[in-house]
Amino acid sequence: MTDTIMIEKTTNPKQRPDADNLGFGQHFTDHMFVMDYTEGKGWHDAKIIPYAPLALDPASMVLHYGQAIFEGMKAYKAQEDSILLFRPEKNMQRINESNVRMCIPAIGEDFCLKAIKKLVELDKDWIPEAEGTALYIRPFIIATDPFLGVRPANMYKFIVILSPVGAYYASGISPVKIYVEPQYVRAIRGGVGFAKTIGNYAASLKAQMKAKDKGYAQVLWLDGIERKYIEEVGTMNVFFKIGGEIITPDLSGSILPGITRDSAIQMLKKWGIKVTERRITIDEVYEAHHNESLEEIFGTGTAAVISPVGELNWDGNMITINYGKIGEISQKLYDEITGIQTGKIKDSMGWAVRV
Ligand SMILES: *Cc1c(COP(=O)(O)O)cnc(C)c1O
Repeated sequence: MTDTIMIEKTTNPKQRPDADNLGFGQHFTDHMFVMDYTEGKGWHDAKIIPYAPLALDPASMVLHYGQAIFEGMKAYKAQEDSILLFRPEKNMQRINESNVRMCIPAIGEDFCLKAIKKLVELDKDWIPEAEGTALYIRPFIIATDPFLGVRPANMYKFIVILSPVGAYYASGISPVKIYVEPQYVRAIRGGVGFAKTIGNYAASLKAQMKAKDKGYAQVLWLDGIERKYIEEVGTMNVFFKIGGEIITPDLSGSILPGITRDSAIQMLKKWGIKVTERRITIDEVYEAHHNESLEEIFGTGTAAVISPVGELNWDGNMITINYGKIGEISQKLYDEITGIQTGKIKDSMGWAVRV
């Protein structure tokens, strides 16, 4: 196991992108972290080097069978130029949970977090400062053996790249329209839905395109067996406020265990609001709408933090949630979590971690 990080600084810094027009995942900083794994030797050769294309053998296993995992987290510029991460140890834990499912060797969680902090520190001038912006951190692991047989690889690369991202909501947090997908499914129990593995996202594209074509922002996924239990919305976990109670699908194996989801649950409980993790059907949600007890729907995830849902379309039946406006709980959670992330409010949960 490696414990030192070699650093090679770029001699050719890139031009910074226009801070008002960052978008998501389009620009990459000057450096990246790379570490190799070889069976028998373990993880080794940890280094921060200038951001550059990889040279991969065309037979690299990841290119054929998708043995790979990733993470998504953000660094924020806080007061006095300090830099904050949000519960980053949770992302490191989840890497190893995804690794177990995908037969990828475990990483050293403390070491990799240290490496991420070093990388962010080195490229800190890339962290945008405007409201809602952040430096998105993308750690990922790929199988690199040049081999076409189907088996777990013996060689891997762990890489971390950084991307300055614009505000998710260009003009303030606002509700989105969601299409309930009746045919395609994202994941099934026993599959890989709970792992942040790359194939899940390729599998979701078809339904995403269909929803976009119909004028919807995202898909609401139903379970893969009965097509009635609610799973997630797009790449976010989903919450419902019905009759004063907050309900979110329990982590049954096909749902990604979001860190924003966990944070929202803990925050709501701290506020004394009842939160229940259980199976919930799309029927129940429509029923609640009809008897006027459906108060709010919102998604949670690192990219948007909180994404209120303003409209659902299930088999042509459209319902409007909270008059298409952001709900009280959605707004409060958004303000509280983003406040902690950016150091603007007191971190009563101990979630913000200084780089
Ligand atoms: C990453 C992800 C989430 C959200 O997880 P966070 O840790 O809150 O960012 C939810 N669903 C899917 C499918 C995801 O990939």
